[in-house]
Amino acid sequence: MMSEIFFSIPDLRIFSYGTTLACGVLLWIIEGLNPFFFPEKRRSLHAKLNLSVAALNLLILLPSGILMAFMLEWSRNVWPGIGMLALHPVAKTILIILLIDLWMYLWHRLNHETALLWRFHSIHHSDAILDVTSSWRFHFLEILISELLRLPLFMLMGAGIEHSLLYSLFMTPVIEFHHSNISISPAQDRLARLIIPSPMMHRLHHSRLRSEHDSNYGSMLSVWDRLFGSFLMRDNLEELRLGLDHESDPGKQKLFALLKRPFCP
Ligand SMILES: [Zn+2]
Ligand SMILES: [Zn+2]
Repeated sequence: MMSEIFFSIPDLRIFSYGTTLACGVLLWIIEGLNPFFFPEKRRSLHAKLNLSVAALNLLILLPSGILMAFMLEWSRNVWPGIGMLALHPVAKTILIILLIDLWMYLWHRLNHETALLWRFHSIHHSDAILDVTSSWRFHFLEILISELLRLPLFMLMGAGIEHSLLYSLFMTPVIEFHHSNISISPAQDRLARLIIPSPMMHRLHHSRLRSEHDSNYGSMLSVWDRLFGSFLMRDNLEELRLGLDHESDPGKQKLFALLKRPFCP
């Protein structure tokens, strides 16, 4: 039964959603107390737009989670993928998590290097302010295409819905952290980016300059950027201009304008 598969691991699901929410709220409070940038726009107004975009995405993510749980369980019985390797179950899980993160790196890079995909991904980049709510701002069609593409990949790996949830549990707090407007010292940022894409790395990824925003694609781990030559860092990011020329104008930062933007010339 589809519903049995979907709800068979409720603890992990609730823990994953709870962690996303708790980290989001915590970072929102900390970045309010100790911000890196001092945006002129009211934080609540900025959050309102990004949360509206995110709410729309939930309408896709919830049914796609149910469908994915069913498809992955069916597929694993036919093709175990990594399950066939003579490895300890923990090693198999780590391998699958690493491969999912590698896919996320490649998918993000593809979004920057393909004109059609950039039309959707640029909605994430047209945010002229960066805070924790920016981590949930994606065009719903980018989410839909991403979900559709990850399904055959997960099937090939023999990944189950528990791997998808486990990956989200680790990855979501990291992307919330590197989007947040939290001010940490350069030494702390250097330490963080040894393992994860740090706030400074991701701020540069939201630079208006294409030479800078075509870099630092990592989601959970920074190793892929180092490995594939897309790691970029420079000092003095306090003056960095975020967003995209012509796209970040206040008139274009409205829900309907953002949703229809990929279909406009
Ligand atoms: Zn990007
Ligand atoms: Zn981002």
